[in-house]
Amino acid sequence: MPCPHRHPVQCIIPPYILEHMAHSADPHLREMALVALAAASAVRAVRAFAQQMPTMLAAPSPAGRRHRLVYDAHGRDDLPGKLVRSEGEKKTADAAVNEAYDFSGDTFDFFHSLFGRNSLDDAGMSLISSVHVGEADGRGYQPMSNAFWDGSQMAYGDGDGAVFRRFTRSLDVVAHELTHGVQAFTSNLVYRGQPGAINEHFSDVFGTLVRQWRAGEEAEKASWLIGVDVLVPAPTRRAIRDMEHPGTAFTDDPALGSDPQPDHMKKLYTGPSDSGGVHINSGIPNRAFVLAAQALGGPAWEQAGRVWYEAMLQLSRTSQFADLARITAQIAGDSLGAAAKKAVKAAWKKVGL
Ligand SMILES: [Zn+2]
Repeated sequence: MPCPHRHPVQCIIPPYILEHMAHSADPHLREMALVALAAASAVRAVRAFAQQMPTMLAAPSPAGRRHRLVYDAHGRDDLPGKLVRSEGEKKTADAAVNEAYDFSGDTFDFFHSLFGRNSLDDAGMSLISSVHVGEADGRGYQPMSNAFWDGSQMAYGDGDGAVFRRFTRSLDVVAHELTHGVQAFTSNLVYRGQPGAINEHFSDVFGTLVRQWRAGEEAEKASWLIGVDVLVPAPTRRAIRDMEHPGTAFTDDPALGSDPQPDHMKKLYTGPSDSGGVHINSGIPNRAFVLAAQALGGPAWEQAGRVWYEAMLQLSRTSQFADLARITAQIAGDSLGAAAKKAVKAAWKKVGL
């Protein structure tokens, strides 16, 4: 969960949830959140270590071949940890290892079979995951309640067991993190303000699309919830985010608070928290994407997904919501025709763009 706003690590659980937990009446939740918010230096060490990984680990594989490596961090924060399963090796007895392996494979297959993309960098990069990642609290280590992409690999915590479960359980969370990797090699949007919210948006779009593709769901009937499988069920929480109805994923939850995502430009967050609202304002383009996918019909990855993938390649580091709206309408018109362009424009109009 170490993801302070000044740090470039891209994680699934936003700082506003941690800040709420830091004020919880539950001393366990409070301590967990405070540790996470104070963990900036530990994460910097993790990143430094990750950047020193032998380059052979990221050796390209032959075109279109998956190359997955799963490591066990044994509850610590030294990444990547001990190699426990390589490409082609049999299942292990550890569910987290098998989930990280299977779900990173599904994500690779999605981008490869639909868009011809050969891994994150389109050059066969290895997919490196560390499971059982912990975080230091000064006296020792405790399970991390987060998942993140650190610029070169994925890292997954086991959760605290009270609010969060192990983060590999969710295909949309795994695909969300890997999409941050794809973005690092494409638009590489700055992780702040509107470009940062578009970065989070693309990860949510392809996070859910990989899951819908795997399940064979049509856009009309699909689930647009992110992170259902990583939450311990409670009546006050349904998911980490709801792309179709931003701002409704959790309400008056004792640990999480209430979902702050806006669903329209007139509610755009303009404060400094969460790197200028990267996990908050992503609700606006998320809703536009769902409306466009539903209007275009069929499975969302076939039409809307293709348009958004192409947009992810075309945007630049500082693109704004208005740029994304304009480019997706243009791509829809060029690739799918005038009716599709109209549908995409109408979807953006409904969120105020
Ligand atoms: Zn993210």
